[in-house]
Amino acid sequence: MHDVDIVIVGAGAAGVAAGRRLRQARLSGLIVEARGRIGGRAWTMEQAGLPVDLGCGWLHSADENEWTGVAGELGFAIDRTPPPWSRNAHQLNFSAPDQRDFHAAWDRFDARMAQAAKEKADRPASECLEAGGRWNSLLDALSTYINGVELERLSVHDFSRYRNTGVNWRVVKGYGALIEAAAAGLEIATDCPALQIVHSGPRVRVVTPRGTIAARAAIVTVPSTLIASGALAFDPPLVDKVDAAAALPLGLADKVFLRVDEPEALPVQTRLFGAIDRTATGSYHLRPFGSPLIEGYFGGRLAHELEQEGEAGFARFAVDQLAALLGSDMRRRLHPIAASAWGRDPYARGSYSYAEVGSTELRSVLAAPVDDRLFFAGEACSINDYSTAHGAYRTGVAAAEQAIRVTAKLAGASA
Ligand SMILES: Cc1cc2nc3c(=O)[nH]c(=O)nc-3n(C[C@H](O)[C@H](O)[C@H](O)COP(=O)(O)OP(=O)(O)OC[C@H]3O[C@@H](n4cnc5c(N)ncnc54)[C@H](O)[C@@H]3O)c2cc1C
Repeated sequence: MHDVDIVIVGAGAAGVAAGRRLRQARLSGLIVEARGRIGGRAWTMEQAGLPVDLGCGWLHSADENEWTGVAGELGFAIDRTPPPWSRNAHQLNFSAPDQRDFHAAWDRFDARMAQAAKEKADRPASECLEAGGRWNSLLDALSTYINGVELERLSVHDFSRYRNTGVNWRVVKGYGALIEAAAAGLEIATDCPALQIVHSGPRVRVVTPRGTIAARAAIVTVPSTLIASGALAFDPPLVDKVDAAAALPLGLADKVFLRVDEPEALPVQTRLFGAIDRTATGSYHLRPFGSPLIEGYFGGRLAHELEQEGEAGFARFAVDQLAALLGSDMRRRLHPIAASAWGRDPYARGSYSYAEVGSTELRSVLAAPVDDRLFFAGEACSINDYSTAHGAYRTGVAAAEQAIRVTAKLAGASA
């Protein structure tokens, strides 16, 4: 039995941020992490001598993103090149007039979403599409990248709450590498999944296969999917939490990285849609950072289907689409080096949270403390920054501050 002030479950962006905040307050904290690595859905892999982010890659709202500050503190260089989606896409299969027409369709869709968000009743975002609109499939594809689900499953109310300053930067050595580095010096037990949290006795007990940890309080940062499924159980059970988590599932987005021979033939930092007339298409970021790589992105149903084939499914699909657009010699020139499969990952079971229609308020229910000693964090708990690593950071710090306040009160009472 290990005894600490506060135990944190999960060493992703939220858990690391919470741990750093507790350390600042000089409280003893232990993080238990199910995986053998730190970072959760933030994961940089070194492949072919290049860092690739299989999870988060962009510092969204970078001008006010706390991880930008941490990068400065730890000496991680930031690339401020505007993201490919803020500039024109490759014109190979998408002419400049068509791109203008598409952007105008997005603006009209966005305006209808903003209007619909003012209504009391929530509804699926797909109801804000123009009937028979020429770009509906591509708008739907964008939703699969942004939200991990098609528009028919997306809540207008929840989407309208997402805050975005429109500034997006990248960490040159990888967002995952940054979050892992930020955890340096924290006490973390890896390969140590929490199975159950018992919160009936005088101390909270976190049961793991490597023993039980007793603490004054626990900060739970696991993805909503793990709470909804009961993979992490509570005793006594927390029915409201489990229901809230179930209504805040994770959508699916996956990446594949391909090394390309003769990269100079391709433009740098450019987006190429695999197709512009369907929802089930990859979006390809050609030569991020000017590297000899192509980063493919897939979301929603397409990502679910491709995961069935294993990681090779993404490479096969990407090579087919890229060869059809850029010429059959791409089959020879493209070499898959890494791919994600977040839906099959037992400690993620998806990529980022969305709220089912009518469920946006449940983010607060998921985040609410229980008896002033169970605190909850993680991107799904964020009302305005959900689905992001900085949203996770903010919820982690907020949960740590709640725990610090309660601990100080208890110390005051016993003094
Ligand atoms: C493909 C992809 C692209 C993305 N792109 C971006 C992006 O560009 N920008 C951005 O801001 N965000 C992006 N995200 C989202 C971002 O990665 C996540 O929102 C963020 O990392 C979530 O952090 P978290 O701490 O809430 O959860 P997690 O990172 O999931 O951390 C939870 C931790 O809990 C651990 N855990 C699970 N179960 C247990 C258990 N029983 N016991 C102990 N530990 C457990 C997990 O292993 C994990 O380490 C992307 C995600 C994906 C998958």
